[in-house]
Amino acid sequence: MAVRYRNHVRQSSTAPRVGAALVAALVAAAPVSAARSAGDWPLNGRTFHEEHYSPLRQVNAGNARTLGLAFEFDDFVVRGRTHRGNEATPLMVDGTLYFSGPWSVVYAVDARTGALRWKHDPGVDGQWARRACCDVVNRGVAVWKGRVYVATLDGYLVALDARTGAVEWRADTFTDRVSMNYSSTGAPRIAGGNVVIGNGGAEMGARGYVSAYNLEDGRLAWRFYTVPGDPSKGPDESPDVTLARRSWSPVSRWDLGGGGTAWDSMVYDPKLNLLYIGVGNGCPHPVWSRSPGGGDNLYLSSIVAVEATSGRMRWYYQTTPGDSWDYTATQNMILADLPIRGRIRRVLMQAPKNGFFYVLDRSTGELLAADPYTTVTWATGVDLSSGRAILAPQGDFSRERKLVWPSQAGGHNWMPMAYSEATHLVYIPALEAPMIFGMGPGSHVEFRSAANNEGDDVAFPPYGPVDEAALRGQPVPTYASVLKAWDPVAARTVWQTPAMPYWGGGVLTTATGLVFQGSADGTFAAYDARSGRRLTAIETGTGIMAAPMAYEIDGTEYVAVLAGFGGAMNAIGYPPGSAAWTYQNTERLLVFKLHGRAVPKPPLVTRMEFEPPETAAGDAADVARGEQLFLSRCADCHALRGVRNGYPDLWNLPASVHAMFETIVHDGALAYAGMPSFADALSTADVRAIHAFLSADQRGLHARTPP
Ligand code: CA
Repeated sequence: MAVRYRNHVRQSSTAPRVGAALVAALVAAAPVSAARSAGDWPLNGRTFHEEHYSPLRQVNAGNARTLGLAFEFDDFVVRGRTHRGNEATPLMVDGTLYFSGPWSVVYAVDARTGALRWKHDPGVDGQWARRACCDVVNRGVAVWKGRVYVATLDGYLVALDARTGAVEWRADTFTDRVSMNYSSTGAPRIAGGNVVIGNGGAEMGARGYVSAYNLEDGRLAWRFYTVPGDPSKGPDESPDVTLARRSWSPVSRWDLGGGGTAWDSMVYDPKLNLLYIGVGNGCPHPVWSRSPGGGDNLYLSSIVAVEATSGRMRWYYQTTPGDSWDYTATQNMILADLPIRGRIRRVLMQAPKNGFFYVLDRSTGELLAADPYTTVTWATGVDLSSGRAILAPQGDFSRERKLVWPSQAGGHNWMPMAYSEATHLVYIPALEAPMIFGMGPGSHVEFRSAANNEGDDVAFPPYGPVDEAALRGQPVPTYASVLKAWDPVAARTVWQTPAMPYWGGGVLTTATGLVFQGSADGTFAAYDARSGRRLTAIETGTGIMAAPMAYEIDGTEYVAVLAGFGGAMNAIGYPPGSAAWTYQNTERLLVFKLHGRAVPKPPLVTRMEFEPPETAAGDAADVARGEQLFLSRCADCHALRGVRNGYPDLWNLPASVHAMFETIVHDGALAYAGMPSFADALSTADVRAIHAFLSADQRGLHARTPP
C-alpha cells in the first residue's frame, strides 16, 4: 500500500469565513496560531513550517496569464542615498501588509490599495554600510499579537505597535560593537514566548550567536553561541560551546571570532518546541587558515536544534565539516511530513550552498537523505550511516588553485525555496556555477580585528588562460541560474527551467499548481508546478530577488513581491539584460491580481558625461598601492572598472567629486547617503593613493586593465 502524505497544517482555505472582529478575538485567544485567517500571510513562509506555499485558489494555470498590476508602493525612505536591494517577503495580517526595506526601515501599507499606514525608520547611520558584507538589505519582519518585530542593521531588535508603528521596546543584540564586525539583516522568528534573531559578519570577523528575547518586554531569555570563543577571554558559556570546542584547534584564529553567524534562516516547530538555526561559514574561510590542524569546527555550516524556552541544544547536523568554501547552512529550511522508506517522518529540508539537498528527522536530527541537487565536486557524497560528507581532493585548494562546484555563492543562496503541499515537490532557485578557489593576496575580505587579509581568493567563470590547469579534467564551467523542481522523496530533479539572465529570486508555490519567481531581468513569471511550463511573464523593469507571497482580501487574491536589485550581486554588477542595466533601480512593492494592468517601467538609466580628472595625483608607486587598497577596501561595493551597479561609478566622477574625494572617503562627508568614513582604516595618504589609482586608471595611464 502506498504511503499517503499527511498535511498536518490545516488547509486554511477550507476554514469557515468569519467576521474580522471574531477572527481578531480568536487570534488573541489562540496560544499558537499558524494562519490567523484564510487570506492572511502572517509568518515569513506563511506558516511555522515556512513552506512558502499558498492555499489560495483564485489564481490558477488557466487564468494566470491575465495577472497584472493591482497597485504598487514605491515611497521607500531613501533621502539622497543610493538605491539598494529588497530581500524581504511581505507579511499580510488583518488587511495590512508589513515589510522591511533597505536600511531596516519598516513599512505598513493598506493591503487593498498600497496606501501607507505608517513607516518606522530606525535611523541607521550610513557608517553601517561598512559592516554589512552584502548591502544594507533586510530580509523581513515578524508580526505577532499586535506587534511588529524588526532587526536593524546596527543590531537592535525593535518591537513596534502594529497599528501605529510606535516603538514598544528596543534591545541591543550585539555583544561587541568594537572589535567584532556584526551586522543584522535577517528576519526575526517567533519561537515559544520569544522572538529570536541572529546576525551577520562572519566574512569580516565575528563570533556567531543567536539571541532570544521575551516577546512582551524584550528581556534577554537566552543566547546560543554557534562557535567557541577565545579561551583566554573566559570560560565557555554552556556545555554546548564546550562540545563545539573539541572540534577546533587550540591555536585557532580566535582573534577573528570564528564566524558561524546565523544571518538568515531559522524555523520553529511549535509541537516539538524546537528552534532550528541555520549556521554560517567560518572566518577566515579555509579551515587550514582558521583552525590549523583541522577539525570539523562546530557548529559552522550546521543546522542546530535548540529548545525554544531554554536555548539548550537538542541536536546538530553539520552539512560541511571544516567548511573551507563559505558553504553556509543558513539557507531557508522547510518543515514537512514525508514518506521515507515506508514511514511518515517529520522532516526538515534544506538545500544549503554546498550543493546537497538534506532531509533530516527534525525530532532527532537523523539524516534521512543527502543528494546533490546541482554539480558537486568538493565531496563525492554523504555517508548516510555516519551522516558525514566524504571530502574529495578536488576541494583542497591549500596548495593550488582548484575549480570547485558549487561556487562560493552556492548552489542555492538566501532566496527562499518553496515546498508544495499539492505536488510534494520543492522549488529551488538554483545557481549552477563553479568557482576557482585559491590562496592568495587578492582577498577582498576586510578584517577589522586583524592586520592581515589572510583568506581565500576566488573567481567566477569565465576564467582566463591562467586557469587552464585548474579547468583540466573538470566539468565544463557554467554560470546558469535555473528554477528546479526537486522531489525530496525520490531525490531527483523533476524539471528545471532554461537558464535565466543572471540570477533568479525567491519562490512562491500555490495549491492551484503554480510557481512564482522573479528574476534579475525584471521578469515576474508563473510556471506550471508539475511541468515547469511558463504560464506568464510580466515585465516590471525592476530586478527581483525577494520571494513573492499571496493573500486574499474581500474575495480578491493578490500576489505581492518586493522588487529592487542589490545585495551581494553589487560586486559583480548589473549585466546587460538585467533590468537595472536599462532602467533606474528603485525599490518597489508590486502587487498583482487577475485582470490587472501593465506594470509601469522606471525611468531609463542616464549616464553622466565622462569627465577625466585634471590631474593624476600620485606617482607610479602610489598608483600601485592605491590599486591594492582599492581592491581590499572599495571593490566589494564599487566593483571594478567597467562594472555597472547601483553605486557611483568611480571611473566616471564629476570634477566636484574629484575635488572632494578625501573629504568623502576619509572624513565621511557622504556618510548620510551610505558612503561611510574610512578614517579608521585608511590614512589620508592611503586615500590619495586610491584617488591616484582611480585617476590614472580612468585616464588610461595605468597599465593594468581590470578583468
Ligand atoms: Ca559567507
